[in-house]
Amino acid sequence: MTTIESAASKLEAVYSEVLREIRLEAALIEFCARGARNPTLVSLFKKHSQSRVREFNRVFHGEDYQSKKPWSLDYFVGSADRRAQSATCVVMYRRLVDAGIDKIEAYLQLHRSHTQQYGPLAYNIDDMIRIIRASEDRGELRVEQCECGHRTLIKSDSIMSKGLCPMCTPHRGSKAAVRKAGGLTIASEEVIGVYIEKYVSDKTRVLRMSMQGARVKEIAVRIPGSEKFAAELYRRLYGRSSPQGGGVCNSEFHVETIDRRHQTSVIIKKYLSLIESGVREIEAVEATNAFYLATFNGQSGSDLMGYSRLAFAIVLFKIGELQFCKCGKCGIEYIVLKDEIPGDQQCPVCRMLAGKTVRPEKDIAIEYDVTESGTIFPPLPGDPRRRREERRQKQVF
Ligand SMILES: [Zn+2]
Ligand SMILES: [Zn+2]
Repeated sequence: MTTIESAASKLEAVYSEVLREIRLEAALIEFCARGARNPTLVSLFKKHSQSRVREFNRVFHGEDYQSKKPWSLDYFVGSADRRAQSATCVVMYRRLVDAGIDKIEAYLQLHRSHTQQYGPLAYNIDDMIRIIRASEDRGELRVEQCECGHRTLIKSDSIMSKGLCPMCTPHRGSKAAVRKAGGLTIASEEVIGVYIEKYVSDKTRVLRMSMQGARVKEIAVRIPGSEKFAAELYRRLYGRSSPQGGGVCNSEFHVETIDRRHQTSVIIKKYLSLIESGVREIEAVEATNAFYLATFNGQSGSDLMGYSRLAFAIVLFKIGELQFCKCGKCGIEYIVLKDEIPGDQQCPVCRMLAGKTVRPEKDIAIEYDVTESGTIFPPLPGDPRRRREERRQKQVF
């Protein structure tokens, strides 16, 4: 494996790790929205930020939120209705786990359908998890099937009889007692979803921009409030802190070679068409970069520019430092500097048709990386240096 390959596969590993963390944090939000108590969160998430939990609880349950005291296990097998309700939790949980769904996601899915089914009678998510653990992990409760076919959950030291079956027993227990079980107002799935989406989409966008080589400052400008997360992420991805400042600021770079003038023209065209079709600014830059990388990957003689350069070209265009001018010969529009005299430069399309593509300097050429698993990576910071290292090593051996 070359150093480039190992750098790319390391990046890929960190990427999936961070994605997993983001998904876990989305789950944490939903657990809070569903009123999970701290001991439950600790047992499920191991390390999670207490201040985040307080923030989520404030959002979903108001300023002075106090989580409910748990019930004793006797409560959940204390009436025929509750025995039936508890048995349903355990049976459905087994079904989800058998389908390969991991524990955290299974609890959430189960509680979603549980609250839909039982409404105000639904158990707290803590209680629901306790019932499942008491049955699946600790053997304190067990599911029994009555001769009539109905399932019931009973204490492990009880002996199954018709009197414990929810259908066969005449004493079904009063609804009033059951009603106290939950007692917490849970926001609708839509409201929870919107909050998670906002949170998760910001973080995944930071992750995607970082993968494209964007610097922390550039990310923070586009995604307000993301600076801390972006800085930590950059360090994890690239093993060093993000370069200071917003990146490059040399407008001549974009017209230095025919290739680059052509690439910049394509970039600006793509960006403008995205904006025109209603794509938001933040997504337009990202999509332009993805399009750019896909278009110019592997073209002979193309050195790909990094995210900073690409984003800066768009800024330069917006402030009028870069402008379009039309080729008198082929009619194609291409990018010129504000103070370049139009017509003075040669049109990149005409030049390329004439086969006069300018090859970039070997050392600044940045190639496109494809790892063994097929994941495609943009030019990474430090790539030129790594490539020089590799060449040097090849020369030695
Ligand atoms: Zn029965
Ligand atoms: Zn032309």
